[in-house]
Amino acid sequence: MSDLHEQIVRDLITRTEAAVNDVMSVANQTGIVFEENDVVDSVERSLPKGYPTPKDGPEPRRQIIRNIVRDILSGDLYEDDDETPVPDLDDLPDVSIVYLAGGWILPDYSDYAQCGINNRQPDAKCTDTAVWQVVENHGMHQTLTWWCATHLPDKYRPADPTG
Ligand SMILES: [Zn+2]
Repeated sequence: MSDLHEQIVRDLITRTEAAVNDVMSVANQTGIVFEENDVVDSVERSLPKGYPTPKDGPEPRRQIIRNIVRDILSGDLYEDDDETPVPDLDDLPDVSIVYLAGGWILPDYSDYAQCGINNRQPDAKCTDTAVWQVVENHGMHQTLTWWCATHLPDKYRPADPTG
């Protein structure tokens, strides 16, 4: 990764954090559910004219911003500040899953955790209680996700003790 690309990504992270805060506070005040695209659009609108598009990166700028949004919402971005976040979907070396009937609170105590389907599928608007917390241990960092009873991915689902 070139220095310029890295600089752009870092700048986009700063802008995306601000946009997530803005969009989330509007969402909290109005009750409107926001989508990744809303944040991506907000970041894109904030960019100065002639803002460089990373040319040597593997992804278009919108996709980079979208990944940053996911990492902010999942908390992944804050687990390891020194590396550009890279989605790590195939590699699940160590996973712990905990059920909490009343629903999980976000690590910063700002709100109840949302069902993870809303991050995975932009058109999903699940408001069910997120009763499952999934911690994926990637060695150097962890990712936290939360799921309602319906949307917990099968790969995480504990074996049915009665079956
Ligand atoms: Zn759900």
